[in-house]
This record gives sequence, structure tokens and C-alpha cells, in this order.
Amino acid sequence: MGRLGILKGKEDNLVKDLKETTLSFRKLGKKYGVSRQAIHVFYKRQGIKRPVKPRGHQTGGCRLCQKLIQISKKPRSEFISIHTIVKKLGGSRAEYRYHLRTLRDRGLVDEKFGRLHSKRAEEAYAIYFKKRLPIRTIGLKVGMKNFQSVIRKHRELGWNVPPSLYVYGGWERSRIQSEIQRRKKR
Ligand SMILES: [Zn+2]
Repeated sequence: MGRLGILKGKEDNLVKDLKETTLSFRKLGKKYGVSRQAIHVFYKRQGIKRPVKPRGHQTGGCRLCQKLIQISKKPRSEFISIHTIVKKLGGSRAEYRYHLRTLRDRGLVDEKFGRLHSKRAEEAYAIYFKKRLPIRTIGLKVGMKNFQSVIRKHRELGWNVPPSLYVYGGWERSRIQSEIQRRKKR
């Protein structure tokens, strides 16, 4: 193998690269000024065991993934809408889908993180957690008629929505009761 002659003096470095990196034979060939095949022959002859290349996206080295993990550690992070996340970190929403999916699949962020798409629901929840107001009033404030049903849906999906701070009084209670009754009849 005449071509390997070029490697003279660099064999130790190449052995090290083969053992410690996951660089392809092609890239190593470029680095050492020989062909991909020459690297392959060398590797075979030396009987080197190469490290297994981790499959898929490397979240540890991804700036975006690291920032997403950071945000997800905030309390009640599932109630932060994707709009706010994108606005904070920059970029496009489509770009986030992939990173979020990877992070969820690997259990690095909660399954619910990044799932809230409605900016209004985010605003409504922010009020709901802080203020003692009827759910209906909060909904009206942010322009959401169905905030109550959004809460119900989220609860069904396992979101940790605490009880309302607002204590429904006699009139409200009877109004809600009669509404429930009316719905049952339908
Ligand atoms: Zn990433």
C-alpha cells in the first residue's frame, strides 16, 4: 500500500482518531491526505474497535435544545405557549417541532411542554393562577369564550390545573348548576 506511506509518522494520531472519534473514513482520509479506502485498510489491519456513533440529534450540543430544557424547568412551564417560546429564543416555529419532539421522546422535557398553541389560553391561565376571578370573566378578558372547556380538556389530558382561586357564590353556583342540568337534558 504505497498510498499509506504518506501516513508515516501520523499513524499514532490516526489510531487515536479511529479509537476516539466517530469521524467517517472519508473525513479521516481528507485529514490525513489519503483515500477513504486507505483509511479502511489501515483500520482493518490494526483491528481497531471504533466507538458507536450516537444516533439522531445530539441534544447536549444543541443550543436550542439546551435553552428549551432551561425554559421547561420553570414552574408550570406547560402553560407557556409555543409563541412565547419562539419569541424568546428566535427562529421559526417549524424549526422547534423537531427539537421538541426529540426532547420529549428522550424524556428531557415533559410530554406537555410546548404543546400549548393558544396565546390567549396562555394569557388566560396567567390570570387564572394569580387572580381570584370567575373563569368566565377571565375568558372574556382575553377574548376566549371557551376557557372553561379548555381547562376541562387540559385536565382530561393530565395537565395539572389547580382549582380556581375564585369561590363561586350562591348565585354563580345555581347558574352553573342549572346550566349543567340543561346540558344533561340535551
Ligand atoms: Zn436541538
